[in-house]
Amino acid sequence: MTGSNFGKRLAQVAIFVVFVAATVSGSAAWQTSPPAPAPAWQRPPATATAPAPAPVTRADILRGAYGPYRVNNDLLSYHLDIRVDPEKQTISGKNSIRFKMLQDSTRIQLDLHPQLNIDKIVLGTTTLQYVRDSGAVFVDFPETLHAGQEYTIDFYYSGHPLTTARFGGFTFGKDPAGRPWIYTACEDIGASDWWPNKDQWRDEVETMQISVAIPNGLVDVSNGKFLGKTDLGDGYTRWDWLVQYPINNYDVALNIGSYVHFSDQLGDLPLDFYVLPEDLDKAKKQFAQAKGMIEAYQHYFGEYPFKKDGYKLVEVPYAGMEHQSAVAYGNHFANGYLGRDWTGVGVSPKFDFIIIHESGHEWFGNSVSAADRSDMWIHEGWTTYLEVLYVEYTFGHEDAAKYVNGYKSKVQNREPIIAERGIAATPPQDMYFKGALFLNTLRNVINDDARWWALIHDFYQHFKYQNIMTEDVVGYFNQQTQLYLTPLFDQYLRHTAIPTLELKFNETDGTVDYRWQADEPDFAMPIRVGNKNDWQMIQATTYWQTMKTPLKKNEFDVATDLYFVNVSKE
Ligand SMILES: [Zn+2]
Repeated sequence: MTGSNFGKRLAQVAIFVVFVAATVSGSAAWQTSPPAPAPAWQRPPATATAPAPAPVTRADILRGAYGPYRVNNDLLSYHLDIRVDPEKQTISGKNSIRFKMLQDSTRIQLDLHPQLNIDKIVLGTTTLQYVRDSGAVFVDFPETLHAGQEYTIDFYYSGHPLTTARFGGFTFGKDPAGRPWIYTACEDIGASDWWPNKDQWRDEVETMQISVAIPNGLVDVSNGKFLGKTDLGDGYTRWDWLVQYPINNYDVALNIGSYVHFSDQLGDLPLDFYVLPEDLDKAKKQFAQAKGMIEAYQHYFGEYPFKKDGYKLVEVPYAGMEHQSAVAYGNHFANGYLGRDWTGVGVSPKFDFIIIHESGHEWFGNSVSAADRSDMWIHEGWTTYLEVLYVEYTFGHEDAAKYVNGYKSKVQNREPIIAERGIAATPPQDMYFKGALFLNTLRNVINDDARWWALIHDFYQHFKYQNIMTEDVVGYFNQQTQLYLTPLFDQYLRHTAIPTLELKFNETDGTVDYRWQADEPDFAMPIRVGNKNDWQMIQATTYWQTMKTPLKKNEFDVATDLYFVNVSKE
């Protein structure tokens, strides 16, 4: 999603939620060795400007923690099969949930918003007991489910799903011509707002079928490949979609409206576009940008991740959302972001921000995903950096430098980017802009563009279709570069402040003393200083060092367009 779409912001909270190790086959590193709690010096310092911590509720922990009844199973597939009634504003149907047990147990945890009714949960012909606790549904089995065995349960439910603000949940709306327009966007509130699932980020199904029955004449666009539609003979038509890749539960979407469809191809990748009939001409013009966007991201990271499912843009009445292979688009068929120059430096009006940003999430967010919401910078920091790469590929390096530095005005530095784990906390908005500026800084620390392009390409390829944590990112970069970058990542991601380069001039001697002021005692970062037409690289650490310079204090520059740092001179 986009930076201005933040409603509530859960603050950092001083609570420790126990992590339980998962032992999923083909798992990423974090799964076999769960991250230890950060030592005290890594935890964010309390600052006077940080918002008051929101109290952590039992519901937050049930939703956010990877608890014992989640860790004991591994999702394989969902088949969500529902009927949507625009008149009564209800949904009803079932989700068939296939999973493999990882431990012997008689209980698993699923989730469904308390607003919705559970009609029944069955395993074959056996009706199962369950206990509801806020949004959690603990399903109990009469006999032990055995490790290594696969099971399918059918979870029947119905009711009127919640709409939360303009961006959240499930909305029964109308289009400007008064026709039904029904859509979902649930990254904040969680997918269990409108359908039963294992509502967390760590475990994804490998494949999913989505079947949606709606009144004849309407169109449903969901994720994946369109399989076909079936007239049910009772005034309803069922639309069937097949997702052939792992998918985040919040990416699963319904878009029901009086859509018209047009299509295109990029090589053998199908491109499909769904818009209201009145917007067809505008869309045909504006959506031509999709090809250049995909080409740019393929250049840096490799093939579009969901090729068998195709790429779609679907018109919605909100700004946009990265629904996997069916990206929601609401930017009014104009460049910039909702009519604005997004970073205020004249670059954003050259392209449609929502097409570029939300589609970037196909690589970071949807393919490479965070395993806990706390580490959502892996989605948003990286995707904001992808915007910069798109600008560099399409309009050149100078525009990219302007564009990324335009983000500085949006950085708040009030809380660390990485939020508390295990409570479904939403990190602060800095994960977008500071995240991108940090990656731009890292490029200049590597100081070799050919290496940087190979590094980020290989990083994506290594972790595609996986759910990872920041430790995996840091470990990969350390290993590939043979540099100890941990203090650098930690300073930008786990602390509030950015590093300050302290400079003390002795103009009589023609020297300057320099060091980093940073929260990380081992913080070290090379940086270009001196004459901007002939930079000199210094290997600054947190200890004072001295360099010779013919430059006076007011002539001595620091390459702050290449590194996101503060500078203090005395
Ligand atoms: Zn986003």
